[in-house]
Amino acid sequence: MLPTIYVRSDMALPDNSQWENRFNVKSESSNRLYVISQNKKNRHWGFSCPGWRAHRTCKHLSALGLPGHSQPYEVNLINQ
Ligand SMILES: [Zn+2]
Repeated sequence: MLPTIYVRSDMALPDNSQWENRFNVKSESSNRLYVISQNKKNRHWGFSCPGWRAHRTCKHLSALGLPGHSQPYEVNLINQ
């Protein structure tokens, strides 16, 4: 069974050409919103935060149970 991630509907974002399952996550240290999303072709997850951009993994991904370093990973994403 796939792991499930619940996303509040007001945090969900539309797909773009390269990314789907996009949603906002609020920063713990500020009011900033970051975007997390799954790559349509390679199926890995990416994040818009500085940590992911620099290291291709970060605490935000870990907190959601998602692997870093461009590993493909499927989840059941539910908007609620
Ligand atoms: Zn992050």
